[in-house]
Amino acid sequence: MTQHFDIIITGGGMVGAALATGLGRQGHHVALIDLAEPAPFDPHSRPDIRVSALSAGSEDYLRSLGAWTAIPAMRATPYRRLGVWDAANHPITDRLPEDLNHVEFNADDLGTSHLGHIVENSVTRLALWQTAQQQDNVTLLTGQGISSLSQNDQMATIGLEDGTQLHARLVIGADGARSQLRELAGIGTHRDQYQQQAMVMSVRYRGEPQDITWQGFYPSGPRAFLPLHGAGEQHPGETWASLVWYDSPARHEELMAMDDRELMMELRHEFPASLPKLTHIDARACFPIARQHANQYYSGRVVLAGDAAHTINPLAGQGVNLGFQDAWCLQTLLEEARLNGTDPDRQSLLAQYEQQRRPANRRMMLTMDVFYHLFSNEIPPVHLLRNLGLGAARALPFARNRVARYAMGLEEPPAFNPAQLASRLPGFDSLFGQKS
Ligand SMILES: Cc1cc2nc3c(=O)[nH]c(=O)nc-3n(C[C@H](O)[C@H](O)[C@H](O)COP(=O)(O)OP(=O)(O)OC[C@H]3O[C@@H](n4cnc5c(N)ncnc54)[C@H](O)[C@@H]3O)c2cc1C
Repeated sequence: MTQHFDIIITGGGMVGAALATGLGRQGHHVALIDLAEPAPFDPHSRPDIRVSALSAGSEDYLRSLGAWTAIPAMRATPYRRLGVWDAANHPITDRLPEDLNHVEFNADDLGTSHLGHIVENSVTRLALWQTAQQQDNVTLLTGQGISSLSQNDQMATIGLEDGTQLHARLVIGADGARSQLRELAGIGTHRDQYQQQAMVMSVRYRGEPQDITWQGFYPSGPRAFLPLHGAGEQHPGETWASLVWYDSPARHEELMAMDDRELMMELRHEFPASLPKLTHIDARACFPIARQHANQYYSGRVVLAGDAAHTINPLAGQGVNLGFQDAWCLQTLLEEARLNGTDPDRQSLLAQYEQQRRPANRRMMLTMDVFYHLFSNEIPPVHLLRNLGLGAARALPFARNRVARYAMGLEEPPAFNPAQLASRLPGFDSLFGQKS
């Protein structure tokens, strides 16, 4: 069987489904391919272990797609405050004023109702599949992956595992960090694995839903609390939360081998006192983390978006927020092309997409690297510098609000070069290699 479309999207994760909705609304005939469709929402289900902090910028984008209303109607937890502190014990810390190393960002200071939402990935994805499904010109193809790609002057052809051939002018790869389409298109990547990985735990605690998300930076890596919804009638007086513990693979191996009682004791001991009283550990999983950047964002009629193009250290929760910015950018350029009657596969359009998104994604990657290296470093001047940095952010409302707007996706990252800044810090030369 052979089918023709304007645009094929491989991968219906959050980014692919957002693109299918946006491009479908513009009138393009779109095919969205994924291995599986999302499961229906069950209000009594335990939370998805994968959750994301969605910025206000992402909320605006999802609202523009008509997908946002369904998200809080299912489950989403707004946070109004964001706490960050340096938890490393060091002789220098004892000599610094108390609380210098602690900063809190607050929605009130910005005159806004919230800084962002913590949302289960399955909820965001489902809301976007529903909006994609509502477009008559979007065809959802599930249950199998892609097996081949060929391109010529006229079109690209995607072969599915059952032998179906799909033709289109443009193919978008939104099939995640291990993108098969990227590989078939011959686009390489530059990848650096971090020494830390992220262990995520779904837990319940006694108490009401909280309006703060916080992260303490320890020498072995950050430990974070992400608030979720109330646990309902099944567990009265309890609330769900997601905990993230960054550490070495060896330490995670130990933690993963523990039974729930041992792990609970470890959490009480190792997490800060701000952690509410835990009652239950529901699920745990480890995620290797890597900085990965595609060498090109496009090749011929293939263009990449989201994790297929870039993955970053999740410590500031920016991965899918960047993916949504890619989607919005590509969608806007394709809409301009449609209105001007130009082809969606024009190389200058794809080059413009890469020119706009690569520097912004790279800036965020490098900023995360600076945080990663700055906070896992015990060299005294570096320790002092980060405490002074946090102290300055705390004392200067202008700086604090700027950082908060940046984290909310409402402002571009600062135009400084973090790698250059880092290279001036003692002990950093050995840590920073070549950047993509
Ligand atoms: C521990 C952790 C915490 C994180 N926290 C945050 C956060 O707080 N905020 C944030 O913004 N980001 C966060 N991220 C990053 C975020 O999860 C990713 O950036 C996001 O999931 C990427 O979305 P995507 O749609 O690009 O790719 P994916 O979510 O990987 O989706 C890819 C889709 O493609 C499909 N697919 C794969 N192969 C094929 C194939 N061959 N054919 C067809 N379909 C295929 C898959 O089934 C999947 O549906 C976090 C990441 C981690 C690891």
